[in-house]
Amino acid sequence: MNAAGSPEPAPRPLAGPPLWLLAELTYRCPLHCAFCSNPVDYVRYRNELDTAQWRTVLEQARALGAAQLGFSGGEPLLRDDLEELVAHARQLGFYTNLITSGIGLTDARLGKLRAAGLDHIQLSFQDSTRELNDFLSSTRTFDLKQRVARMIKAHGYPMVLNCVLHRHNLPHVGAIIEMALEMGAEYLELANTQYYGWAWENRLALMPTEEQLREAEAVVEGYRARIGNRCRILFVVPDYFEKRPKKCMNGWGSVFLGVAPDGAAMPCHAARMLPGLQLPNVTEQTLYDIWHHSDAFQRFRGTAWMPEPCRSCDEKENDLGGCRCQAYLLSGDASRTDPVCDKSSDHAGLQQVVLHGRLAALDAPAPAREAPLVFRADAASRRFAAS
Ligand code: SF4
Ligand code: SF4
Repeated sequence: MNAAGSPEPAPRPLAGPPLWLLAELTYRCPLHCAFCSNPVDYVRYRNELDTAQWRTVLEQARALGAAQLGFSGGEPLLRDDLEELVAHARQLGFYTNLITSGIGLTDARLGKLRAAGLDHIQLSFQDSTRELNDFLSSTRTFDLKQRVARMIKAHGYPMVLNCVLHRHNLPHVGAIIEMALEMGAEYLELANTQYYGWAWENRLALMPTEEQLREAEAVVEGYRARIGNRCRILFVVPDYFEKRPKKCMNGWGSVFLGVAPDGAAMPCHAARMLPGLQLPNVTEQTLYDIWHHSDAFQRFRGTAWMPEPCRSCDEKENDLGGCRCQAYLLSGDASRTDPVCDKSSDHAGLQQVVLHGRLAALDAPAPAREAPLVFRADAASRRFAAS
């Protein structure tokens, strides 16, 4: 009984384990991608967990049940202790994946990562052309990435390439696939831009038209039919062009656990921007407490939090109400139905963003470079932090 004499509420059943740990080792990065998903005010989070703290995070996550581990950033190769953390993760039994731009990956470093037991490397490109690759990252890195790709292959890793797609490079999808085949890629992830972080700020400049998307999809289908299993191509149409949202992160606090460079624990890698969501920190709480008991991880778990129309919707188990970050960005309230859903009263706002993209594409000169992109950089981040 509680103090008022009423029966205590039954304790909540514990959630299942997180299966996937994303360790964002640093927000530092030598590139300046206009679609970067890091927070636009990342300069506010300069403090990074040290090696011992990351080792503890890995141990606690593994004890919770996490089995897949992604080392990402920013650029995780900027951490001198990456090899040590990979070795520790492998010893704990994680399957380890390095998500990298390739900048800083030398032959010697690859050898060390191989010796440490790194299982998998995902290398990102911005485009199949030097011109656009270098423009979108605001660096001269295309040739370097080509060399890194050859080195990764030479060290016996499967070649896994990733390219973020948007209005500027969707017409190059065929050439991007050709580049991947030439490099001997086993996997190619064609990741249509998700509009968070810097990509959200640049949404009008990056938003493709539906025709561009459908044409690119048809090109992908053609290649799939021709090349079979020689290279597996993943292509997911972005939410904005659908009528139902995706089951974001397979459900909030369901299988994904992210840890930011400063130790903030996140139910999704974009959750840091949600106002009123106090992210717990691994320097103050154990991951067990964070996962099972923190408000941030409980807030949108399951279906009990849902407003109408989701609450009484017979499709709610399919998508769990969609993406909380998308709901916040498009409606101003993270607890509303994802505006991607055409049952949402905010759906018209989303269609306007799509329409803006369409108009911008029509007006833009070819190639459409003059769109005012904001590139990820410390000076721009300081402006966002100040505002
Ligand atoms: S998206 Fe580009 S700028 Fe952002 S972390 Fe990745 S490589 Fe760096
Ligand atoms: S109303 Fe909510 S639960 Fe139903 S389909 Fe739309 S987003 Fe999914």
